[in-house]
Amino acid sequence: MNPPPTPPCILLLEDEQAIADTLIYALRSEGFEVRHVQLAREALAAFTEREPALAILDVGVPDGHGFEVCREMRRTSEMPILFLTARTQEIDRVLGLELGADDYVSKPFSPREVCARVRAILRRSAGAGRVAAPNAAAPEAAPPAALRLDEAAQRIHGPAGPLPLTRYEFRLLAALLRRPQRIYSRSELMALVWDDAPDTADRTVDAHVKLVRAKLREAGLAGELIQTHRHMGYSLQG
Ligand code: CA
Repeated sequence: MNPPPTPPCILLLEDEQAIADTLIYALRSEGFEVRHVQLAREALAAFTEREPALAILDVGVPDGHGFEVCREMRRTSEMPILFLTARTQEIDRVLGLELGADDYVSKPFSPREVCARVRAILRRSAGAGRVAAPNAAAPEAAPPAALRLDEAAQRIHGPAGPLPLTRYEFRLLAALLRRPQRIYSRSELMALVWDDAPDTADRTVDAHVKLVRAKLREAGLAGELIQTHRHMGYSLQG
């Protein structure tokens, strides 16, 4: 009998023990080895000692900032990095800054969502041969050929011209279109699309997804280009 393969090691930087505990439990249940630290300097020490398969970094930790930890790790490593963000305003910074992070999950999150992201990132980086070739970037999924985002004109074109989208419908579809296959939770979409998040966040997002799907169908496209992921959210088919 062959010995079982060594489980991939995940370095987890999270100062809130309760959050860390649920993540450690979920990741171990999926067969990952987890190394948990609570401080930025401990994360860097653990990383230097042994590079993990992937790092999960909380943005706010008592002795520093997850972004700084990420920058420091990126000086020598291309290992995948997933951020845990507490505030929705941080999402823009995670995506916008040249941090080289692979993805983020905003709090509150389900451990299941984090595990799904970890698996997706590891699959992607394995496919890109990133472990073997540290400089090769993970490929982004291509958007559906039938849709084209015109950022300057704030329009999305279908096969027969621009789709007649309202402001929020445009922003919703544009958010999905910028990162095909990335699953956005309803609260993430709320933060990215709406200026003032109303209380009925989930229903607002669902209602707009329904409207956008109807307009995709009117334009001769499949409404299912926007995919529903149970308990997780929505993504655009790549
Ligand atoms: Ca924290």
